[in-house]
Amino acid sequence: MHELSIVANLFEILEEKAKEQKANKIISVKLKVGALSGVVPEFLETAFDIYKKETIASKATLTIENVCFKVQCQKCQAEIVKDDFVFICDTCGSTDLKTLSGTELLLEKIEMELPS
Ligand SMILES: [Zn+2]
Repeated sequence: MHELSIVANLFEILEEKAKEQKANKIISVKLKVGALSGVVPEFLETAFDIYKKETIASKATLTIENVCFKVQCQKCQAEIVKDDFVFICDTCGSTDLKTLSGTELLLEKIEMELPS
């Protein structure tokens, strides 16, 4: 499962950030997952829940924001949200399209409990 190695990686970053901030624990984590990132959000959630148990993020909640696959036509500048993978502009029929979003896999936000 591809998602397991992603989550393993994610936890390395989380532990590092928590150490930097001297945080007691991690409360929540937010990820941005593009429709074309190759990651299945449900698998990511499952992997996160398995992985977090023995970590500083054992009580953390994971939020995943799905990012749609969006392209811009380089000919007529139309922005199109794609739900298929047919690379043709709906407006003018051009195949010269630029990907605007949908390939990302980003750690958007970490919420931590800091020592008072
Ligand atoms: Zn077009």
